[in-house]
Amino acid sequence: MKKIVIIGGGFAGAYAARALERTLRRRRGDVEILLYCRENYTVFQPLLPEVISGTIGLTDVVTPLRRLLKRTHVHVREIESIDVQNKTVRVAAGFKPHAHVESYDHLIIAPGTVTDFRGLPGLPEHALPFKNLADALELRSRVIRALEEADVESDDPELRRQLLTFVVAGGGFSGVEVVAELNDFVRHVATLYRRIDPREIRVVLVHAQDRILPEMKPQLGAFAQKILRKRGVELMLGYRLHAATGESALLSGPDGVVSVPTKTLVSTIPASPHPLIDSLPLPKTKNGRLLVDGTLRVKDHDDIWALGDCASVPARDGSPCPPTAQHATRQAQLVAQNVAALLGGGGMAALRTFDFKGLGKMGSLGRRNAVAEIFGLSISGCLAWFLWRTIYLAKIPGWGRRLKVASAWTLDLFLEPELVELRLGGAGGAIHEHFEPGQRVFSEGELGDRVYILLSGRAEVLRKCPNGGGGEQVLALLGPGECFGEMALLESAPRNASIRCVDPMTVLSIPKREFGLLAANVPGLRASFEQVTARRLAQGVAQ
Ligand SMILES: Cc1cc2nc3c(=O)[nH]c(=O)nc-3n(C[C@H](O)[C@H](O)[C@H](O)COP(=O)(O)OP(=O)(O)OC[C@H]3O[C@@H](n4cnc5c(N)ncnc54)[C@H](O)[C@@H]3O)c2cc1C
Repeated sequence: MKKIVIIGGGFAGAYAARALERTLRRRRGDVEILLYCRENYTVFQPLLPEVISGTIGLTDVVTPLRRLLKRTHVHVREIESIDVQNKTVRVAAGFKPHAHVESYDHLIIAPGTVTDFRGLPGLPEHALPFKNLADALELRSRVIRALEEADVESDDPELRRQLLTFVVAGGGFSGVEVVAELNDFVRHVATLYRRIDPREIRVVLVHAQDRILPEMKPQLGAFAQKILRKRGVELMLGYRLHAATGESALLSGPDGVVSVPTKTLVSTIPASPHPLIDSLPLPKTKNGRLLVDGTLRVKDHDDIWALGDCASVPARDGSPCPPTAQHATRQAQLVAQNVAALLGGGGMAALRTFDFKGLGKMGSLGRRNAVAEIFGLSISGCLAWFLWRTIYLAKIPGWGRRLKVASAWTLDLFLEPELVELRLGGAGGAIHEHFEPGQRVFSEGELGDRVYILLSGRAEVLRKCPNGGGGEQVLALLGPGECFGEMALLESAPRNASIRCVDPMTVLSIPKREFGLLAANVPGLRASFEQVTARRLAQGVAQ
């Protein structure tokens, strides 16, 4: 029995398994196909932005792998590592805390790329990626939460500005589609909030180049810019997102660093090589994609294949194929044919080469507008939008899903957008937060809701001057390893000092409930925090 192991259940992996099922249907008894994926579904990413507005249902953008793949063994587990020498993959532990090893005769690598904010201060803590279903759901919930909060916080203009400003970084296809959906949704539902003036809403698209959609012809990029501006999206061209805090996005541009107050920051950039690939002793390009030849075989390995976003596949002219779904699905068909050819004993001569040029590019701008470049023709406006919907509807796997999406789109023409906020309870627990110099972590008089442990950077403790007049005095300087904010929680009292960032700092921020649980159950923890509080009180420093 020959075993084909596929890593990844996206456009590349799932479609490769499907094509293999068809190609090897006569060899069911002697070839086994195993697909490992982190989720038990495949995401139809082109429709993901529509989850933000709820135009289509959450589960309509995904297809369960078991429905799609009837003859493949689908294993919902992560692959931790690949041993090229011994032809095995190491599968992560599940319920039972033990990993297991799977051998293969042919390995098809397709885990896509990952969003990696490392090296961009504050982005891992405060920016939302936009790549999978959980990201879309999180963004939708954040946007609704921001509107709900702004409706309550009527007396704090700065906080309202942060809550009602939505920033998307990246003016490529996904950034433009996300900002268009987000803008339409926010402006539409804001009319239901009595204390929000639509003029307070700011939706900003940040892009490093001088025009958005650089992948398309200039006139289509210009059309997209015109439509977005008309709908109230502010375009910050020539600006690059370089840092973030919980209250602002920091952009570097022609006039230096600009701070945009926001509590909702989405970054559709940058996609980085998958860590699984990073650690492989296989040839890679400078940007970390696996180098394959035209047949999709990894150089010098007849049994390892790579495709989709994780691979650098040479196109007809030798340049690498763009990371798109249309390329990934065509590569999936080819890899299935080539693996089947080798298993059938055809030898290297039977292998075919990737020869797909791309049919075109399309981007939705929401509300019956889109841009498209199809077979060299430039189309924009309603016709492009109609083509966009028709083509993607036809490409959704399975008639059931297609029908659901078609009905959702039809109903959306008549019904109001869905405004239910789903709180899945995943937001609790300790998190990292990033602060920039001058930013306050909390202010004197506020209620204590979290305790903080300084991991890097420095902060100062401030207290209002006793003689009034609005001035503040610095009581102490805190550095890495020190904690603050514990007193208000231990004493159930308001904050009696303020904390302001001095050097860019990262903190571990523990919510009141979790801190309470730890203080009540970890022996000695409460006592040690109380000692810190007593020492600070003696020194006249407390927060
Ligand atoms: C918002 C958005 C909109 C897009 N719109 C379009 C569009 O309109 N047209 C177009 O052509 N392209 C579009 N794309 C690009 C397209 O989605 C990608 O090119 C395509 O998804 C790449 O397929 P892939 O299978 O290589 O990677 P992915 O689709 O990312 O799939 C990777 C799979 O591998 C799994 N995985 C990852 N690591 C492991 C592991 N260690 N073990 C097991 N499984 C793992 C993941 O869970 C996932 O299922 C869009 C992308 C995004 C993010």
